[in-house]
Amino acid sequence: MQNIVLFGPPGAGKGTQSKMLIKERNLIHLSTGDLLRSEKEAGTELGLKAKVLMDQGKLVPDEVVIGMIRNKLESNKDANGFIFDGFPRTEKQAEALDQLLEELNTSISGMIALEAEDEELIKRLLERGKDSGRADDQNREVIENRLKVYQNETAVLKSYYQKQNKFTSINGLGSLDEVFNRLNAAIG
Ligand code: AMP
Repeated sequence: MQNIVLFGPPGAGKGTQSKMLIKERNLIHLSTGDLLRSEKEAGTELGLKAKVLMDQGKLVPDEVVIGMIRNKLESNKDANGFIFDGFPRTEKQAEALDQLLEELNTSISGMIALEAEDEELIKRLLERGKDSGRADDQNREVIENRLKVYQNETAVLKSYYQKQNKFTSINGLGSLDEVFNRLNAAIG
């Protein structure tokens, strides 16, 4: 199995690049943000609880997202592999992911971080907010909070994967194809 963590701050292009990667490599795209938004749209209890946190740019509790990923992994045991997008976001999530993959006799192949400056990310997210309908893309303060949460709680995972020799960082600026080429070169 080829299991890749596509890492980076909000607006780095993880979702778009994940969609390009799964097509080329026949992998399954697991985005906890997408899964949570589906719950929200379906009006489930979980979705309604998550909405309050998501709209403020705060993280949803670890147990919730770990549970979602567990379900998806268990129902796709025959997959070629997975692209994890927006997960893990905390050390607890990273440890849980390692354990879940171990239960499936597999592991993370690599973690690739898409890098971009905050001002560029804010510009991209506000632009995306015009069409995405996402409340968390439409308010500069919420966007800044998401970037702060990334710096304070998530960026530390680079060293988590570095310690396992699984970390690569690439420039997230440029055209979709330029970034995609860098990504493919990094994955090998
Ligand atoms: P995203 O689509 O990845 O930008 O995620 C949108 C929002 O969903 C985040 O700001 C969080 O509120 C929530 N979320 C998504 N993934 C996670 C995660 N792995 N852990 C906690 N909260 C998450």
